[in-house]
Amino acid sequence: MSNIEIRIIPTLFDNYVFVVHDPKANVTVCIDPGDDPMIADTVKKWGWSITHILVTHAHYDHVDGIPDLVDEFNCEVYGSHHDYGVIPRCDFRVHVDDVLQFGSLKFKVLDASGHTAHQIAYYMESEAALFAGDALFSMGCGRLNGGTAAQSYRTLTKISTFPKVTKIYFTHEYTQANAKFALSVDGDNEDLQARAVEVDQMRKNGEITVPVTLGLELKTNPFLRCNSEQNFAKLRRLKDKF
Ligand SMILES: [Zn+2]
Repeated sequence: MSNIEIRIIPTLFDNYVFVVHDPKANVTVCIDPGDDPMIADTVKKWGWSITHILVTHAHYDHVDGIPDLVDEFNCEVYGSHHDYGVIPRCDFRVHVDDVLQFGSLKFKVLDASGHTAHQIAYYMESEAALFAGDALFSMGCGRLNGGTAAQSYRTLTKISTFPKVTKIYFTHEYTQANAKFALSVDGDNEDLQARAVEVDQMRKNGEITVPVTLGLELKTNPFLRCNSEQNFAKLRRLKDKF
């Protein structure tokens, strides 16, 4: 049995930072750290030391915490070769289909473009975990902010083919607002209705809604349920105005 641990640190306004730990190799990987001293404090409280940072894309809320963490832990930083020079203190340029291995932690680099022109995601097959950055949210998807509808549709179509048990680690707590939009375009969907009620309850209890399984998203996320790029683009425009 794997004793790999994945933990979540809520940070900034509604961001999540993910920390993956291999106790045997004493490796700790931090994904997409925004600028928040809480991240280092929390990891240290757990008795861990960050050894590697992975970046999905160069937006400030995913990278501004890197310099302080590098100063504190002397960790290595990995990001897309397209974003090299934009990601602070980036040591290693990664490419789509690269497999990064740190201790027993193995991350496959996926093209997750659409939100930005070159966003990547990291997939851990051993944990059935997908660190999706801002490509996909529960019942939603990332705004087109440099990338195109075609890229985003292709990314989501590819993610749809992953095993249904895949846990999607998305980086913003937009779930409740996304449910409202999803219901406005797919109100008869009973799975969606049930999920919206569940999410309201979770948020009322102060629970976070990440991760979510791909299986549940396939039933409830209107952006994963689009059957054409045109429909996807239309839906994305509707959401921008919602
Ligand atoms: Zn972003």
